[in-house]
Amino acid sequence: MEETSQAAHERLERKGNLKKSVDHVQETIDLLMKARATIAADPSVATTTLAKLQTPVKQSLGKVNGDLKEIHASLGKYSKALDKKFKDKPLPSSSNDALSSHASLINRAIAMHLLREGQLSVASTFISEANTHPPPPEAPSSPAASVTSPDHDMQDTVQNDFTNDDGTFRSEPLQKQFAQMYYILHELRNRKNLAPAILWARQHSQVLETRGSNLEFELCRLYFVCQYLGLDTSDDPVTSDPNGISGPLKAIRYAQLAFGNFATRYTREINQLLGSLCFHSNLAQSPYAHIFYNESAWDEVASSFTREFCSLLGLSADSPLYLAATAGAIALPTLLKLENIMKEKRTEWTTRQELPGTDANPPMMMPCGHVIAKETLDRLSKGGRLKCPYCPGESLARDARRVYL
Ligand SMILES: [Zn+2]
Repeated sequence: MEETSQAAHERLERKGNLKKSVDHVQETIDLLMKARATIAADPSVATTTLAKLQTPVKQSLGKVNGDLKEIHASLGKYSKALDKKFKDKPLPSSSNDALSSHASLINRAIAMHLLREGQLSVASTFISEANTHPPPPEAPSSPAASVTSPDHDMQDTVQNDFTNDDGTFRSEPLQKQFAQMYYILHELRNRKNLAPAILWARQHSQVLETRGSNLEFELCRLYFVCQYLGLDTSDDPVTSDPNGISGPLKAIRYAQLAFGNFATRYTREINQLLGSLCFHSNLAQSPYAHIFYNESAWDEVASSFTREFCSLLGLSADSPLYLAATAGAIALPTLLKLENIMKEKRTEWTTRQELPGTDANPPMMMPCGHVIAKETLDRLSKGGRLKCPYCPGESLARDARRVYL
């Protein structure tokens, strides 16, 4: 299945692109432009020029239509492959849906997801609409009471209480936090400006260190590298130097000012940075090249920053909604298949007898190695021989052994 849609996709990329078509349209335009120029230069040849134009233009347009036919065919095959892959399968019955009675939790998960994805304005619209149309109150048996705000373990946590007294989602503090996070990320990724991230890391230096995070040092090391290589980066507001030096000298100056706090914890890394000074004329061939020419350095600090920022808010680095949806998409086809097989064999999804068992009804292993509940064993054997429900094996009930889980 997978292969079919993949193959159709590749075919579409190969044949379904409009490049040939565009070329042929251009060919037609060129013909017409040329004819126009000819006639403009000498109006007396207008009739013959136009007459001569007819066949080539027709042919050219024919080619354009031919190209489109191929594209249509590929598109058709692609959508057929997609339809085949994503059949309109009914989802499992809602009896399995533990969350359907917890609309407010789902709303909250969606709002959190939007916030942490940086979709701040979509999130605020979603939250205000969810608050004006609150879902019906949850069933009394709901486990909502146990689902409180994220962990309060971290003492230095910035702000992690996102629930109002009436239980509604309190989004303002989160919105503010994520606005700051995306500002810093934007500066990092799009402007190669380390200053806001360094400032943030410095402000949270202690809690980051307690967590064993290397973020602050990683940021400062990248700053050192940028100074060293003379890359344009906004000055660290605390340690910016007015003397107008640049390159390795500026980097040394920066190291003197900024690396003091890191000296014990990152001795080796700092020695490497300083050792690199001996090689500044041929840095690319030096043992330290990987530090200075690391293409993924910016991505690394950006994701490290995101992870630390989220964990200080008491949140995981990846959106739980995203993880849950992805895990569901991976697991659901198998579960659906299982459910269908169960239905065909008229076995319940989970019958009481399939549960690990109780003292009165413990799991029993038959000589073939399969395990069934004692009640089932007694029912199947009626005191004599029994056939295993899972395999062709036959045995005596008294040969079954109790399993201790
Ligand atoms: Zn068996």
